[in-house]
Amino acid sequence: MAMDFLAPSRPDISESTKSPWKILVVDDDPDVHEVTEIAVAGCQFEERSFELLHALSAEEARELLKQNTDIAVALVDVVMESDTAGLGLVSWIRSELGNHFTRLILRTGQPGYAPQTDVIMKYDIDGYTEKAELSRTKLITAIVTALRGYKLVMSLETNRQKLKQLNSHFAAIVEKNALSEFASAVLHQLSELFGQPVDSLLCGPETLPEYGAVDRSKFRVLAATGNFEDKIDLPIDVVGDDAIRRSINECVERQANCSTAQGLALPLVTRNGMAGALYLGIPETLLEDLVGAEVVQLFVSNVALGYEKTGLLEHIRNLAYVDRVTGLSTFSGFIESFERNSLKRTSLLVIHTDIQRFRVIVDGIGDEKASAVLKKTGHRLSQTFPDALTIARKEGDEFLILLKGDGNSVDDVVARVEDAFQEPITLDENQITLKLRLGFALAENEKQGAEETVRFASIALNDVRQKGVTNHAVFHPLMQEAAFERLRLASLLTGTSNQTEFSVHYQPIMKAKDESLASFEALMRFRTPGGSYLNTARMIEAAEASGLISEIGAWMFRAAFSEFGQLTDLSEGTRLNVNLSPRQVQTNRIYKDIEEAASAAELPLNKLVFEVTEGLFINNDRVTISLLSWLRGKGAKVVIDDFGTGYSSFSYLRKLPVDGIKIDRSFIMNMDQDRDALAVVKSIMAVAKAMDLSITAEGVETVVQKNIMQDLQCDYLQGYLYSKPLDFRDTLTFVQGSNEPGAAAG
Ligand code: C2E
Ligand code: CA
Ligand code: CA
Repeated sequence: MAMDFLAPSRPDISESTKSPWKILVVDDDPDVHEVTEIAVAGCQFEERSFELLHALSAEEARELLKQNTDIAVALVDVVMESDTAGLGLVSWIRSELGNHFTRLILRTGQPGYAPQTDVIMKYDIDGYTEKAELSRTKLITAIVTALRGYKLVMSLETNRQKLKQLNSHFAAIVEKNALSEFASAVLHQLSELFGQPVDSLLCGPETLPEYGAVDRSKFRVLAATGNFEDKIDLPIDVVGDDAIRRSINECVERQANCSTAQGLALPLVTRNGMAGALYLGIPETLLEDLVGAEVVQLFVSNVALGYEKTGLLEHIRNLAYVDRVTGLSTFSGFIESFERNSLKRTSLLVIHTDIQRFRVIVDGIGDEKASAVLKKTGHRLSQTFPDALTIARKEGDEFLILLKGDGNSVDDVVARVEDAFQEPITLDENQITLKLRLGFALAENEKQGAEETVRFASIALNDVRQKGVTNHAVFHPLMQEAAFERLRLASLLTGTSNQTEFSVHYQPIMKAKDESLASFEALMRFRTPGGSYLNTARMIEAAEASGLISEIGAWMFRAAFSEFGQLTDLSEGTRLNVNLSPRQVQTNRIYKDIEEAASAAELPLNKLVFEVTEGLFINNDRVTISLLSWLRGKGAKVVIDDFGTGYSSFSYLRKLPVDGIKIDRSFIMNMDQDRDALAVVKSIMAVAKAMDLSITAEGVETVVQKNIMQDLQCDYLQGYLYSKPLDFRDTLTFVQGSNEPGAAAG
């Protein structure tokens, strides 16, 4: 029978060390003790001899039973001190002593005292004999049968104990919140349960993409022991043995045990369909012999419960740490990875990267396809940096890469990225070439934390975005100072706007041909109570960042339009240039602000030129285009400011409602020494002319620069050569001077 098998499994244990079976004889007749002693003398069962314990009353028996918990069989006389002393003892053993293991054989001297069957059932009694008919053979047979029973209940009890112990361990196992940890804890417990190492595997789905929806065809080894140990984390396909693989797959498919000659695959059945399998490299029969079929089943259903719970935890963890769109890490995951790695490594390199003109791409292809672009970008980054410690998507089109600090140079990383994105990304029939911008920050000691380093990399990336000259920058403390200053200025703007004095200065723009006045560019000025001027560019940037730009802009339209209206001596065609920053353009109030200021000053809109930057077209195409079209419809002109510093793509110029460009002063300033700058100016001008756009050169400081631009047939010139920006009083004077005969020759 199933439970007998195991007996000689430990031949190493010598006979002398095997304890005898303890057999208790309870009888008030001393002769019975003697006879029984003689009968069992020299007997063995499974190489263990018999040791008799003697009790002459139920009372004595109780004492012995209390002291000896390992009595295998008790031969109990029914009638002793009283007619029912024996039954009383039996009842006491089972109920009060709580001993359910010792096998009980009732004996009686008088026929007719046989106990009722319900008593036999109730007290789990193994046999009943009459003393008269008790031959030696019969007695020994009864004892051996009882011993078998004893062995059986004891092995069940051991398993029960193991299971209990297992259950208490399960609490600990289930605490684990990663599937692989859970799985290896399970296999460890299994070896303990079997009392010997087993070749085992625990497999689960390769990924947990959508909770409850699992791709069963793909399994991965979550944990393994023995012969399989080197298979951990690998897909199930690489587990060498065909039969094993097949039995695992079949067991998952059918959700039923799948037994082979070498082992047994057990399905982990969960309520959420998160299939899994436990494979044990022991033949099923041997396994059941070891622990019993019920125990195996109980164990497996416990594992399945734990597996389900851990899977859920991992899923929740995944939600927090795995980016849904790209499958990369999330920002939280990135921070954790940084912290883990900073304990192990001396330096870490953080790269914050984004996709140039991503908004334009999204507008072109639609939002749904945009996530495909992000996914492909993430994939390409992963391929480009197999050595990355972590790659994460921060938000939108922003990614973070974590690399070892040593052995990774900035130039090398930039080259790798450029190389990787040389090839366009294919989306259905579209081919999209992506350009990435990169901000670098190095953490060289463990004091510099994850968030700080990421912030530094972001400041560097921001620097790239603002300058728009190169595709990468390495964080420098000066950049942070600039960022701090922006903050300071923003608070200055918000907190002290009634003390900080706003005014408008005007810088003339001349016709290149005859150097007569063509226009004034209105430029904001911020004067502190102390009387000094704040840096305009930075103040505007701060106003942008804080959202105050619209407020300031509205004020500036009113001031500039009305002052311009007071320059009565101007010739008919002279215009006023005003700057619009990206954030201003994106508000609805801009229409009203311009219209109201113009009508208050009785200034027709066709006197105005609006200067916008290239960056504007990246952020919100449609909104920008409708505003610019509206302005041009009213007779105003629109020019692109700082041309050449942004994306400098002529292809989009064609589509935009603009009248001209202003070549950035960085080119003009370097033109006379730098051949490249001159070449850029020339090519910009060639294309602009071909598109019939007017051209203004800003930052003209020298006669040489002026001459070059005149030779190139530039339309307008602006710069210190003619005048710095002037306050209103000086502007009045300038206008009078420019009207005097011969002024243009200046
Ligand atoms: P911008 O539109 O490019 O303005 C030209 C800037 O170049 C002005 O700086 C001007 O003073 C300076 N500049 C002019 N000629 C020369 C020259 O020959 N050499 C040199 N080195 N610089 C010259 P400013 O006034 O500091 O203005 C800085 C920026 O602030 C402007 O750049 C513009 O983008 C922004 N800004 C100024 N006023 C406003 C405004 O009212 N609204 C908005 N949205 N932005 C404004
Ligand atoms: Ca401007
Ligand atoms: Ca400019």
